[in-house]
Amino acid sequence: MSEVHQKTPSKHPAHSQPTRVVEVAVVGGGIAGKACALGLAQLGLVTVEIAPDLDQIVPSPQGEQWGQRIYAFSPSTQKLLAHLQIWDAIDHARLQVVRDMQIYGDRGEKNDHLHLSAFEAGTPQLAWIGESNLIENTLDQASRFQNKLERITDHVEKMETDADGVTLHLKNGGPIRAQLVIAADGANSPIRSELGISTTEESYTQSAVVANWICTYPHLETAFQWFLPGGDIVAMLPLPNKQVSMVWSTTPENASALLELDQNGWSNLLSSLANGAISKQLGELTLNSTPAAFPLRKIRASRFIGPAEAPKIVLIGDAAHVMHPLAGQGLNLGLRDVAVLLNILGKRESFRTPSDPVLLRRYERQRQGDTTALLWVTDKLKKLFSSSSNAERQLRNWGLGLVNKSHFIKQRLIERALGEIDFE
Ligand SMILES: Cc1cc2nc3c(=O)[nH]c(=O)nc-3n(C[C@H](O)[C@H](O)[C@H](O)COP(=O)(O)OP(=O)(O)OC[C@H]3O[C@@H](n4cnc5c(N)ncnc54)[C@H](O)[C@@H]3O)c2cc1C
Repeated sequence: MSEVHQKTPSKHPAHSQPTRVVEVAVVGGGIAGKACALGLAQLGLVTVEIAPDLDQIVPSPQGEQWGQRIYAFSPSTQKLLAHLQIWDAIDHARLQVVRDMQIYGDRGEKNDHLHLSAFEAGTPQLAWIGESNLIENTLDQASRFQNKLERITDHVEKMETDADGVTLHLKNGGPIRAQLVIAADGANSPIRSELGISTTEESYTQSAVVANWICTYPHLETAFQWFLPGGDIVAMLPLPNKQVSMVWSTTPENASALLELDQNGWSNLLSSLANGAISKQLGELTLNSTPAAFPLRKIRASRFIGPAEAPKIVLIGDAAHVMHPLAGQGLNLGLRDVAVLLNILGKRESFRTPSDPVLLRRYERQRQGDTTALLWVTDKLKKLFSSSSNAERQLRNWGLGLVNKSHFIKQRLIERALGEIDFE
């Protein structure tokens, strides 16, 4: 198999360069874009992936310190990565299986608690926790050996669509002409804007502070989440080697203050947080990464394909939807976009081109339900637990306890978190 060609920015002016013609162009070098480009090339489609940072292979994470970006990967993500033949290539020593989730309300009462268990649900695990780099590095390695895929390190500046396809104009290189374009260009998606696809957007006026900790007590393969009075949410996700990864959603002001803390400051704070429940559960916590903060918002694109009259562009990942990380589902949802698109294009009748509007409309229809449901649930949960009204406080805590008693509801919740996808 020949290696993928990595085009670096050219010194020649763009207009002097010939137009490259491909079947599909994927714009974006995040996990959604990389997985999608690899999957499309594996279907035999001549594919280019374009992003500003594709000339470097993301280094494989090594050593005792875990990376800053840690994700919960759902079983639907595992299925996609297995389908792309990279799941077995991932260093599983750096992945932590999650078998239980413990969620606590904000009154500190014993019954304000929800326990989700893989054992009870009859599934081997609820999720895996691992580093973003671990997945990205494996995707990069697999892409190097995919001869239908070319990666171009560049920036899409402009785009023109016509009846037969799309022309992408790059900042440095020559134009690319594709039958189908996949916009995996992130939450601020320039392609989405250029298409004039409207969005519903809402800032949560919260930031997520992330940091990794070494804990003295075993985490028991359990992901913990505490809702705190005032709307903060603290999640502690298990990692290998007695570590946990924290995602603390809080006001931007508090997030800035948290980033200033040293180990002592953190120890004092964490030992008293949630009435001491965090240290009771995990013991003493020693900082094992540099904390970082990310602003949180909700975005939903009104359409997942465009232009409306003759679609040739598909939005996937954060370009189509962004959600609060309290359920750890944003990337998983984006990778389900990829899985559905690969399924539809892989099963297309021989007379249909990859940009056949029937296929693209099928994609959009199939992704509407999953996206709407997940955005709605995470948004409502976030708002319910931010409300300071007494009635809502009673309701949310009572609700947790009530759901905890219902095997049926818990089973449905777990099914949603696992995410249904199938490859034929
Ligand atoms: C604190 C936090 C915790 C989270 N935890 C989880 C979790 O546990 N589980 C989970 O599933 N999700 C989680 N998420 C969500 C997850 O981070 C995102 O959904 C995911 O990273 C989005 O990936 P993406 O590939 O769609 O977009 P991005 O990673 O944003 O990639 C966009 C790409 O497009 C490129 N690009 C942009 N413009 C152009 C252009 N003009 N030309 C070429 N390229 C361009 C960029 O360079 C980039 O490579 C979390 C989010 C936050 C903030």
